[in-house]
Amino acid sequence: MTSIPGCHLACVCLGLMSISIPPSDAAQLTLAENGRTAYRIVVGDDAIEPERTAAKELKTWLEQVTGATFMVNGAGAGPRILVGPSAEARRLAADVDWDALGKEGTVQKTAGRDLVLAGGRPRGTLYAVYSFLEDTVGCRWWNATESDIPKRPTLQVPALDETYVPPFRYRLTWNYENHDKPRLRARQKINSGEQIGPIPEAYGGSETIINDGHGLGKMITAEEYFEDHPEWFRYSRKEGRRVRGEDTHPVHCYTNEALRRETARVVIGLLEEHASRSNVIDVSLADSGSMCECDPCIALRRRESSESGVLVHFVNGIAEEVEAHDPDATLTFLAYWTSNKPPRFVRPRRNVVPRVATMDKRHDRSVRDYKLQRRYIEKWSGISRELFIWDYAVNFHDYLLPHPNLSAFNDTLRFYEEQKVTSIFIQAPHDIVGDFPSLRMYLQTKLMWNPRLDGRAIIEQFMRGFYGAAAPYLLSYVDLLEKAARRDGVLLSCYHRGTYHWFRPDDIDQATLLWDQAANAVRDDEVRDRRVRRARLPMDMVWLNRHRMLKRRAHDRGQAFRGPEDPYRATEQYIRTAQSFGANSSSEGSGFERVIPGLMSRYPRPGRVPRRCQDLHPARWEDIQDNMFELGFEGGWTQNFQHYPKAELARIVDDPSASDGRAARMPGGHRKEAIRYLVGREMTGRWHVYVVGRIEAAEPKEMAFIAGIYHKEDIGEIARIIPAHDPARTKGYETHYLGVHDLLRGAEIWVTPPEDETIEAVCIDRMFLIHDGAEGR
Ligand SMILES: [Zn+2]
Repeated sequence: MTSIPGCHLACVCLGLMSISIPPSDAAQLTLAENGRTAYRIVVGDDAIEPERTAAKELKTWLEQVTGATFMVNGAGAGPRILVGPSAEARRLAADVDWDALGKEGTVQKTAGRDLVLAGGRPRGTLYAVYSFLEDTVGCRWWNATESDIPKRPTLQVPALDETYVPPFRYRLTWNYENHDKPRLRARQKINSGEQIGPIPEAYGGSETIINDGHGLGKMITAEEYFEDHPEWFRYSRKEGRRVRGEDTHPVHCYTNEALRRETARVVIGLLEEHASRSNVIDVSLADSGSMCECDPCIALRRRESSESGVLVHFVNGIAEEVEAHDPDATLTFLAYWTSNKPPRFVRPRRNVVPRVATMDKRHDRSVRDYKLQRRYIEKWSGISRELFIWDYAVNFHDYLLPHPNLSAFNDTLRFYEEQKVTSIFIQAPHDIVGDFPSLRMYLQTKLMWNPRLDGRAIIEQFMRGFYGAAAPYLLSYVDLLEKAARRDGVLLSCYHRGTYHWFRPDDIDQATLLWDQAANAVRDDEVRDRRVRRARLPMDMVWLNRHRMLKRRAHDRGQAFRGPEDPYRATEQYIRTAQSFGANSSSEGSGFERVIPGLMSRYPRPGRVPRRCQDLHPARWEDIQDNMFELGFEGGWTQNFQHYPKAELARIVDDPSASDGRAARMPGGHRKEAIRYLVGREMTGRWHVYVVGRIEAAEPKEMAFIAGIYHKEDIGEIARIIPAHDPARTKGYETHYLGVHDLLRGAEIWVTPPEDETIEAVCIDRMFLIHDGAEGR
């Protein structure tokens, strides 16, 4: 392990908005004038591959910006742009401490009419060129496919004298949009993360942590070791034995000496095997909240008053053996979940670096302002040579909703820098239709490179550049949501289903107005209209999640309702729009496609309004159409349907006489409640309950079908009716009343045929509910 250079903000940091040029600065260079240039790009003979890439990139983008042709290494006596730390570049920038640049420190310096863009090896020069193109020339790479490259046939740049070494030597943010996009990641100065696609040597390669992630579980697998060495694995007091655990996430017994020796042997082998790539190896515990409960493990945990104490003893033991083989190697382990809290006595050895996983934090503010995690980090920092961080910026349960945490990164990253953090991984939502994914990636990557930058200025720069005239409204939207999430007592964390706890109805109305204004501002700008459309999807999802409650609330208060009139059509529209942008995932480990059936069954497919509801306000009754039914499900109170394949118990069929043209159809011969509607949170309340059905039978029937209400957990049977059928009196659908009931969440309204083979079919068009107290029953 080489020593870590600190942050050297030696000279003027140009900042982000520095493209304005002082009008009569004597030192300024004219790189192009009216589409012609006197400059040539010069790369030293000894340049390494990424430095040659840097020269090519510089040529490409300068030519796009100016329209001029920039020769690389052509002959001539004109002024030069020196790319890379050649002897000539070093001569021109003699005051730079080249040795302090490390692997990726950058130099941007004017010398007379020449310009030096160079840096440490392997990536410094490439990064210097990208910094120059962004900060001084004004190129913007918003994501892998969208960029703004200015047109400046006359390009003047001010005197430059900037040396910069980034504080974090591993930088990775997990976004969908830079996944397998090595060129974009190079521009973002992201230098690690083989999991999301390697960065080729030409773009500077990647920094690698061997066995990154829960490394110990990959080295000492249950499959390979449990049979011969059960004592290396977790002891469970409850079960009174050693437990093999999940194959992917085995939990070990860290006080076991033989396990430590074997792990050291494996670690040394892996370090040798990967010697050309890295000398940092992960020996983290499993992704599991459980731990070994053998007597020595428990005694040590008590003494250290943390699981991490047991772990540090274990890792230190390995590190001591490793040091004898490779004094420069570093072991890292996750201080995560059960081991987040630092130990009381033991200290990580010199060659051991904890990687603190800040899962327990408030996403709406800096880690500095959340005292529990702040104290852990400060303590870890105090007892360690340096720290790695695994940070979270994601709602794992739902990528599709707003997650207002953009402002928090700036100070969080500054805090990390102060705490000797040298490696940053930010786990972000891995999707393309969530909460400002491109902005999130743009902001995080810029701040990881330099946490001293002004995060707000980066957000504004992105908003103005990417969304144009919509930017002011979207900035207000971001501010509104962040304020909402920072209310007293509210916690924005890694796991939320819904936005109920922080996003209040008045906020939602206000946010919706801002989106309307944003859309209006770019309605004649096709590109930005589409960008705004994508960015609005999380807000659309808020409406789809909370439509009923918000509709009722607006009605009860006599306020305007700002949500979509028809939530079923709005859901279809949402899915179409999301798919048109390439929606890929909806939550951790779940593809977007998987949420579609659930989304399509939340609201009724529009149909004729029942006669009883015609005079009612739409907020006073609820339609439950066949698209919302569960069909042929497992369980229920009767199981005598063996003679019908499950798929035939109930099916949705076209039915012109049904209110929406479709109905659920069941053969009359079984008595399985093959249709039910489960009452969700938004449907709880006191309701008059109706079922609309018909049967296909030539003769009158004493029992047409059976319908009822049932609550498995709380109540049991609530209601049941058995209507008769008289074909002489009634043709087609009839409405049947199940009474007025308090419907709790989880109640089910069900229908079953009467187990009568002479009934061809029982068809259910819909159920509907009328709010108790509503007029017109
Ligand atoms: Zn143990």
